[in-house]
Amino acid sequence: MKLEGKAAIVTGGGRGIGREIGRRFAAEGAHVLLADVDGERARDAADEIGAAGERATPCTADLGRPEGAARMFTHAEECFGGRLDILINNAGIAHHGAFLELSFEDWERVLRNNLTSAFLCAQGAARIMAAGGGGRIVNIGSISGQRGSYGRTAYGVTKAGIHQMTRIMAVELGPRGIAVNAIAPGPIDTGITSMGPDQERRYLERIPLERFGHARDVAGTALFLVSDEAAYLTGSVVNVDGGFDAAGLIFSYTELTTVKSDVRDPSKSD
Ligand code: NDP
Repeated sequence: MKLEGKAAIVTGGGRGIGREIGRRFAAEGAHVLLADVDGERARDAADEIGAAGERATPCTADLGRPEGAARMFTHAEECFGGRLDILINNAGIAHHGAFLELSFEDWERVLRNNLTSAFLCAQGAARIMAAGGGGRIVNIGSISGQRGSYGRTAYGVTKAGIHQMTRIMAVELGPRGIAVNAIAPGPIDTGITSMGPDQERRYLERIPLERFGHARDVAGTALFLVSDEAAYLTGSVVNVDGGFDAAGLIFSYTELTTVKSDVRDPSKSD
């Protein structure tokens, strides 16, 4: 039991990656508060954990608004009595849209749900942790925050912002005993992706581990980052992407042998 007795908040904990992190942390002995804008989802996730004999409390809140985040922290205070050991800052929405066509409304909606929510939750959690002597925060970013992917203006900017906020928080909060890291997932199959077969194939061609990630891959890394094993880790952005970011363009061996790679004049020696 790596998290015995720990108090943890997982935002966006009603489904997908957040739900899996909640499940994993509870199985390791933590009491998790699962906050989600969809209350029914949060209740369902908490019920599932409760049925396994572990501790989870659902919380309905729109975390992209100050009053929603404040509501979550009031709920956390009731649950944990003013203590907080862990925040997994995971709530967010996906978005695709070409730069030239991106509307102001969409831009603002993505910023509010991804970046503003991450800021409000991180700040609220860090204030509680600073008063309590320390804690761990893991912000969920994305590979889209590191690469200039097509159609990712709003989403990619929010995720790059989350990575940078992680570094700044690590610098400011380290002396308060708070470690802050980010996870940058590559494409994770949460069972609700709307990718077409062609898009799937093209992704897989660029992932060295030749599969999409699972929510449990992200949950395992989150568990490591909040465990004692990661005591000296802060300010890092950890890619959980099967090597997608490292790879760039990948050619198969057969394709590679047809590429003329040695262009040096053979008459010249070293
Ligand atoms: P899901 O949509 O499955 O889960 C996210 C949950 O967060 C949803 O229930 C969503 O509700 C909720 N949520 C969104 N905005 C808010 C808000 N303002 N307040 C409270 N709850 C909110 O997403 P994933 O599990 O796929 O992704 C989780 C995180 O991981 C996100 O930050 C995402 O950007 C990131 N990520 C995911 C990748 C993937 O391939 N799945 C890849 C890289 C990063 P609702 O659905 O109603 O909006």
